[in-house]
Amino acid sequence: MSLNGKTAVITGSNSGIGLGIARAMAAEGADVVLNSFTDRDEDHQLAKDMAEEFGTTVRYIQADMSKADQCRALIEKAGACDILVNNAGIQHVAPLDQFPVDKWDAIIAINMNSAFHTTAAALPMMRKAGWGRVINVASAHGLRASPYKSAYVTAKHGVVGMTKVVGLETAKEPITCNAICPGYVLTPLVEGQIPDTAKEYGISEDEAVEKVILAKQPSKEFVTVEQLGGIALFLCSDAAAQITGTTISADGGWSAQ
Ligand code: NAD
Repeated sequence: MSLNGKTAVITGSNSGIGLGIARAMAAEGADVVLNSFTDRDEDHQLAKDMAEEFGTTVRYIQADMSKADQCRALIEKAGACDILVNNAGIQHVAPLDQFPVDKWDAIIAINMNSAFHTTAAALPMMRKAGWGRVINVASAHGLRASPYKSAYVTAKHGVVGMTKVVGLETAKEPITCNAICPGYVLTPLVEGQIPDTAKEYGISEDEAVEKVILAKQPSKEFVTVEQLGGIALFLCSDAAAQITGTTISADGGWSAQ
């Protein structure tokens, strides 16, 4: 497939899954907009390096996805948005009655509300272009729950709900909206949970990965960012034109249990 002439905006894409999807899109010729809330030289350099590697236009636009106006400004600054990947996300683990309010608000804003704002800003551009793809990076936690992840589970279930609504509202147009629901992927977000998990269970970090984290995933393997990039490309293909308002799980069988 070719994504030549398409612009893909991927929120939270200077690491992990977002970067994996951005690389997959650039490899197929899309012009890519990378984003994060930081404004580090490394992020601009990352865009330059990717442009050189893939021979396509890659820009880095700083915007904080916890802020409504910055979500909308990201799409406006991009100037075009044929493919929108709502990927920015954070995590915090605590019992609900001890969940810090600022963490709750940040998770709901970044993991869920940002998708509302960017999608609202991007749909008119997609309509004008006569083609569009909205891909929400939800989670297995958008379909199932785990204790102590109340804000994350709530936000991801919300994203899955929003995906269905946007799929219905655009059903008669050449626009689709779907969510990818990954299981565990070894990114900075999950790496950050390993020491705490090891401490909580009084086991080594290797045991925490094997006996706690991957224990949930029947395949006993991490999902990779390259696999998720491939699924995002499939959702952009003509073969996926009638797939809308739904979820694709990539979780080694977790959600089938
Ligand atoms: P990651 O920490 O590598 O990436 C998160 C990205 O979000 C980073 O690029 C970070 O800069 C960006 N970000 C954080 N706060 C932001 C803000 N306020 N504004 C803009 N960008 C911001 O983690 P990841 O695992 O690649 O996570 C990406 C997405 O995938 C998240 O939505 C996460 O919930 C989801 N997910 C991850 C896993 C997993 O196992 N890693 C599983 C299912 C879903």
